[in-house]
Amino acid sequence: MVTQSTWSQRQKRYQQIWDWIRTTVDEAILAPHLEKLVKSNTLSLQAIVRSLKTEIAPSDTQTAERVRQEYRRVLAQARQGNTNPARWHSEWYKVYQRALSSDVTDVKGALAVKDFLEAVAAKLAPEWGRQQLTEFIATQELGGTLRTLDQYGKVFSSLVEHNSFRSRSDQTIFATLGGRSDSEKGHACPCRKGPKQHPWHPEHCALLELALTGKTSREITATDAELGAIRERAKADEKLLKELEKKGWKIEPSLGAGSGSGVRYPGSVNA
Ligand SMILES: [Zn+2]
Repeated sequence: MVTQSTWSQRQKRYQQIWDWIRTTVDEAILAPHLEKLVKSNTLSLQAIVRSLKTEIAPSDTQTAERVRQEYRRVLAQARQGNTNPARWHSEWYKVYQRALSSDVTDVKGALAVKDFLEAVAAKLAPEWGRQQLTEFIATQELGGTLRTLDQYGKVFSSLVEHNSFRSRSDQTIFATLGGRSDSEKGHACPCRKGPKQHPWHPEHCALLELALTGKTSREITATDAELGAIRERAKADEKLLKELEKKGWKIEPSLGAGSGSGVRYPGSVNA
């Protein structure tokens, strides 16, 4: 049963929508729609909205174009290099997924791979990028199985994490990793011993995520002992733990203390 009060409430809401349409849609656009609906005797708020939508809502090609531009912007960002590799990768991955679902050609085929490798070779990972690009072109020339953009994306992400973890070694994969804008001094992170820092905030650190929660979407590997040690260092930093908790990273209770005793837990590390 529709009571008088719910009726007038509904009226009020319709009125608001109608007011909103009138203030946001240009008169010149709105008028023909109203005319058409009045003529066919089908004027209703719903009909107006539907009619406007067919004309104004972005088409698939418009959406694809926007995603394409965004993808190019992300690649340009890599070329400029004033971002850290981990953060850049997560940004790239988001837009890349969107581009895939919008069927954007920029992420397809050999050209897409070259664009990607050239972009990361500019600043983020010069040695690796150039090396991969050379190999890719050689394989393309001589025949052989080419890696896909998807695969390069995964390898890049994995190397970023690996490199941040193994930074003590002199042999870094990314020659300029950490050598970006001066404004970014680096963040101490429990994934590292002592004063060593990495340029991205711990909340973007996949190793830390893996150590605390037992899982991460990135492809990284570490031993139980390493993860246990990271977890212990993280526990000592209550402020950071609180911050990470807001992000949803809670210490998974089943992970144990990890004193290098080789505590095993299920589903942790997937290479
Ligand atoms: Zn870290």
